[in-house]
Amino acid sequence: MHDLQCESLSKRFGAYTAVNSVSFNVPRGSFFSILGPSGCGKTTLMRMIAGFEEPTSGDIRIKGQSVLSTPPNKRPVKMVFQHLALFPMMNIGENIAYGLRCRGENKADITRKVAQVLDRVGLPGTEQKQVSQLSGGQKQRIAIARCMVLEPDVLLLDEPLGALDLKLRERMKIELKQLQHQFETTFLYITHDQSEALLMSDNVAVMNAGQFEQIGSPQELYNDPKTGFVAGFVGDSNRWPGRALSVADGKVRVALDGGGEAIATAGDDRIAAGSTVELFVRPEVLSVGPGAENRLEGTVESLLFNGASSRILVRAQGGNLIEVGQAVMDGTNRVQPGARVDIGWSHGHGRCFSVSR
Ligand code: ATP
Repeated sequence: MHDLQCESLSKRFGAYTAVNSVSFNVPRGSFFSILGPSGCGKTTLMRMIAGFEEPTSGDIRIKGQSVLSTPPNKRPVKMVFQHLALFPMMNIGENIAYGLRCRGENKADITRKVAQVLDRVGLPGTEQKQVSQLSGGQKQRIAIARCMVLEPDVLLLDEPLGALDLKLRERMKIELKQLQHQFETTFLYITHDQSEALLMSDNVAVMNAGQFEQIGSPQELYNDPKTGFVAGFVGDSNRWPGRALSVADGKVRVALDGGGEAIATAGDDRIAAGSTVELFVRPEVLSVGPGAENRLEGTVESLLFNGASSRILVRAQGGNLIEVGQAVMDGTNRVQPGARVDIGWSHGHGRCFSVSR
């Protein structure tokens, strides 16, 4: 069962195509993110679903019904904006009641529904508080409560964590996921932050230049990227340019521009001997020491301690920079800047994509 279906949806502004024939289905009750860099068309896509922008072509269906001719205020969707748009002159109860009043619901129902939704977002009994008395995280929850009290089929969230400081953003990612789970409502979330998308989503669509590059679970996108763009945008990767020397059985032998050779999985079927390619290798699959199938020699430049995601930066002999992930940098057997090291990884851990230059 799908709550939201978009089919060949496009939006052109004059000669410029902001959204280019995008199709996707969002299963009922799931958390679906659209992830992409600034300007790729995420907001335009969401504004079409909300009804604020008219598609140039394509269809949008909610619970199986096309909503193209339904005005924004009649669509069964609600939208949470980055700046939340709470009414500062109204107290919390009035903010949440606003949409119900506009619908003409009776006073007793409004009072009951406001109390219920405040309870569900973990802020019971705060009806009389002013917006200015709330923390940033509480404001987020009220903005969501104000939408959820209207029981939309789909909640649209346009980078709602963008204005928060780092610590609060980390906490709100977990809270948002919990709220979505609790309400069992379909959330469509747009972000340029891959860590937000990976942490919260059941499925993610990676968007680039108006098109979807890949739709998948966070694990699929991370472990099995289908394009160089996805490999580079989702998670951290070493990314080295090179040239394919040979291709056989889905494996490519690559000569790296910076020097050295490696064997990697072919990420697409356009790679042939002589193709310009990029090799992607995740920092955490690299190891320091001899014996691995692929090997680059280099000199340790620096050690970057950052708790769980610590890194060793190594300059390979040919000039490439290698980022090696370390689960723990505990001081034992630790390499030192200036040390000569071998960096290794297995054939299956590198992925190669063709590049048109
Ligand atoms: P950001 O993360 O920066 O908000 P985005 O991925 O949401 O970016 P959009 O806001 O959808 O991107 O914009 C996509 C492209 O469409 C941009 O190049 C933008 O300049 C263009 N665009 C958006 N709205 C209009 C408009 N009304 N008229 C002309 N061009 C527009």
